[in-house]
Amino acid sequence: MIFRQLFHAESGTYTYLLASRSGGEALIIDPVLERVDRYVKLFEELDVRLVKALDTHVHADHITGLGELRDRTKCTTVMGKESPVDVVSMRVKDGDSIEIEGLALTALYTPGHTNDSYCYLMDDHVFTGDTLLIRGTGRTDFQSGSPRAQYDSLFNRLLTLPEDTLVYPGHDYKGDTVSTIGEEKRFNPRLQVSSVEAYETLMGRLNLPNPRLMDVAVPANMQIGLAQDEREHASWALDVSTVMAAWRAKDSTLVDLREDSERRRDGLIPGSVHAPYPRLGEFIEPGGILREMALATGRRIIFYCAFGERSRMAVEASQAEGLGNICHLVGGIDAWKKAGGAVETPA
Ligand code: FE
Repeated sequence: MIFRQLFHAESGTYTYLLASRSGGEALIIDPVLERVDRYVKLFEELDVRLVKALDTHVHADHITGLGELRDRTKCTTVMGKESPVDVVSMRVKDGDSIEIEGLALTALYTPGHTNDSYCYLMDDHVFTGDTLLIRGTGRTDFQSGSPRAQYDSLFNRLLTLPEDTLVYPGHDYKGDTVSTIGEEKRFNPRLQVSSVEAYETLMGRLNLPNPRLMDVAVPANMQIGLAQDEREHASWALDVSTVMAAWRAKDSTLVDLREDSERRRDGLIPGSVHAPYPRLGEFIEPGGILREMALATGRRIIFYCAFGERSRMAVEASQAEGLGNICHLVGGIDAWKKAGGAVETPA
């Protein structure tokens, strides 16, 4: 198991790198833009391949590294379904599992600091973002924060975890690195309240200044999607009506790049085949099934995913492998469903 707690001093942010083994897949939580060079070097040093990058919520105090990491490593970006960001590759809801080779995190929806705040549980580790800090809790006075929602997230979710669960927060300003649920229950001054009303009063009296970077960070962090630039007008970027016509005419092979959990939750386009994005290389390299099929039949391949990010990266990867006649569905199955396209649940 590879576990690294990385620090961005200017914002007091902790970033976590997880992988089950050297030579395997890795996941990163709450990366900071200014530290991306360091992360990428560390992936090389530890010999891991970043496949997922997730943020616990939209941050107000630093610019996220999600977009930059996606552009540099072709990883999948993940946030909660409530996040107001323009595009991430994959969205999760409460109880969903986020998997990489050898590791699984469970998403816990814990609104309060913001209305898109999630914590992530991995066995006896919980990554608490800004919901629960060491001897503190995240402020609730902006970004649709709510002390009442946070009280519920703390007392009825996080504090019900086993007492020896290790707490890894999104920030620390005093030099602490890790705590436990039991320790926070006993010694966190914000948790020594007798009612939701008392918590609301406590949080209402904090009078904190706004984060220094808030006016820069929040707008930047809302626009992290793969730049919707002129490449979206490329001949291989198909809008939903074009893909629907191709689907009805059965003249193309639709390839779903999403994971099993997303397919079960959101359904799939009938007749499409499955090639999960993290393993795309196996399908498009020489001898790979998609490559051989495309070459043998001459049929057009149309990739799709949740929102169109993974599919666009898959087209570019296929082109780099020398494949032509590969397109993708702009907006993903989200756009397909909004346009009334047929959906079936996987068998
Ligand atoms: Fe925050």
